[in-house]
Amino acid sequence: MPDAEPLSDREGPRDECGVFGVFAPGHDVARFTYFGLFALQHRGQESAGIATCDGGNITAMRDCGLVSRVFDEEKLSALYGEAAIGHVRYSTTGGNAWENTQPIWRDDGREVALAHNGNLTNAVELYAELRDDGVRFHGSSDSEIIAALLSRQVDGSLEDAVAATMQRLRGAYSTVALTEQGVVAFRDPNGVRPLALGQLSDGHWLVASESCAFDIVGARFIREVAPGEMISLSAKGLEVRQVVRSPRSSLCVFEHIYFSRPDSRLEGRVLQQVRGRMGEILWRESPVDGDLVISVPDSGNAAAAGFAKASRIPRDDGLIKNRYVARTFIEPGQELRRHGLKMKFNPIPEIIGGRRVIVVDDSIVRGNTTRQIVGMLRDAGAEEVHLRISAPPIRHPCHYGVDMSTREEMVAHRRTIAEIADHVGADSLAYLSLDGVYEAIGTRPDDHCDACFTGRYPLGDDGAADGKFALEEIATLPTSGR
Ligand code: SF4
Repeated sequence: MPDAEPLSDREGPRDECGVFGVFAPGHDVARFTYFGLFALQHRGQESAGIATCDGGNITAMRDCGLVSRVFDEEKLSALYGEAAIGHVRYSTTGGNAWENTQPIWRDDGREVALAHNGNLTNAVELYAELRDDGVRFHGSSDSEIIAALLSRQVDGSLEDAVAATMQRLRGAYSTVALTEQGVVAFRDPNGVRPLALGQLSDGHWLVASESCAFDIVGARFIREVAPGEMISLSAKGLEVRQVVRSPRSSLCVFEHIYFSRPDSRLEGRVLQQVRGRMGEILWRESPVDGDLVISVPDSGNAAAAGFAKASRIPRDDGLIKNRYVARTFIEPGQELRRHGLKMKFNPIPEIIGGRRVIVVDDSIVRGNTTRQIVGMLRDAGAEEVHLRISAPPIRHPCHYGVDMSTREEMVAHRRTIAEIADHVGADSLAYLSLDGVYEAIGTRPDDHCDACFTGRYPLGDDGAADGKFALEEIATLPTSGR
C-alpha cells in the first residue's frame, strides 16, 4: 500500500455553504435556526452563525467551527426576535478566517445581515468598483459584496433594493438577507445552488438550502424558490416577485449526486432514491463479475444499494467509517502516517477476504483516497477490487461555489479510464454516463449545470473563476490599482 497523503483534508469536492431563514413571531427563531443549521452541517464545517432581529436592531453571532461548538444555551438565549437567518460555511471565495464567517452584518445606510451560498463570477470587478467608491470591506468573501450593494441601496423598499442588487450580480447565489422588516430570500437567475421554501404548521414561513432543514423543525417543504425569484417573509406574510427572468435553469447536478443530504428533496424526488437509481443504471451500463458489493461510506451507500439490487450480488459493509474524524487534527508522524487512512476507513478482513469486491463510490477527484482504499482492501485479503463510480469523471473545476482541485490535480485530467484504473490500482473501473445520471434524476440535461464533467459552463463564463483568494490579492493593491 502506498504511503498515505496528509490526513487533514477530505479529498472529494467540498460542500459549499448552507443558508436558513425564518420569520415567525412568537417562536424561538434562534433555536429554529440552530437546528436548521445543524441539519445543514454537511454543507459547511468551517464556521457557523445566526443573526436575529426583533423589529429594531439586528444581533449577529458567528464564529469558526461546527454549529455545536459555536453556539451554546447561553448564546442562543441572547439571540431573540421575530426573524432570524443562519449560515454554515465552507470557503469558496476568501479564506477560512473569522472575518469571512457569516451572516455578514453591514450598515452602509440600510442595516442588513446576509448569508450566501454560491460564488459570484464578477466578484473582483464589483469589489474594485465599490472600493473605488469608498466602501470598506472587513473580509475577503464575495458575500460581503452582496451585503454592501444591498446595504447601500437606501431608497425604496428592501425588495426594490434586492431587485437592484440582483441586476449587478453574476454567478451563483442562493441568499437570505435580514432587515428590520423581515427576511428576504433570493436566488440567481440560473438557480445553480438550491433554495427551498417551507412552512410551519401555524402558517409561518422558512427558507433553507435543503428540505432536510425543514424536517428537523417540524416544518413542511412547500416548493423550491424559482431561479431569479425573490421571496419576502414578513408581517405581511409571504410575498413573491420574479425579479429576473431565467434565461436557462442550471441547477448543479452534483447536488443530486453528492452534495445534498439523501433525505432532502430536489426537483420532486428524494435523493436517496435518485442515488439508488444511479447505482442500478451503473450496473446496467457496466456490469462486472463479483462476489460482494460494498460502498465507500457514506457517500456511496445509496448507489451501492441500487447496484446490489440490480445485480443481485450480495451487499455488506466491508469498510467502516470513523464518523468522528475532524478535518484538522494532530499529525500522526511518519510511522503512523503509513496507516493514515485507517483513521477514517477500516476494512473488515472477515468480510472482504478471498472475495472479488465491487466498490461503489460517488466520485473520484484526485484519486489519492481511492488509491489508498484499494490498497487497504487488498491488504485485507480482497482477491479482486472493481471500482464503480456513480458519476462521470470529473475533469473541470467548478466556478459556482464548490471547491474542487485544480484541473491538473484531477486524476481524470488527461488520463483514459484504463489509466485511472491503473493509477488507483483497481482491477477494473467504470463511471456512470452523464445520460445515466439524467435518467436517474428523471430530468433534461439542458436544465442543469454539469460543467465539472463536460467543461460546458452554463453561465457562459468558462474562464471566469477568479480563484478562492482573488479578493485577498486585490485588497492589497492600491485603489484603482487592479
Ligand atoms: S461545475 Fe459541477 S459542482 Fe459546479 S455547479 Fe456545475 S455541476 Fe455543480
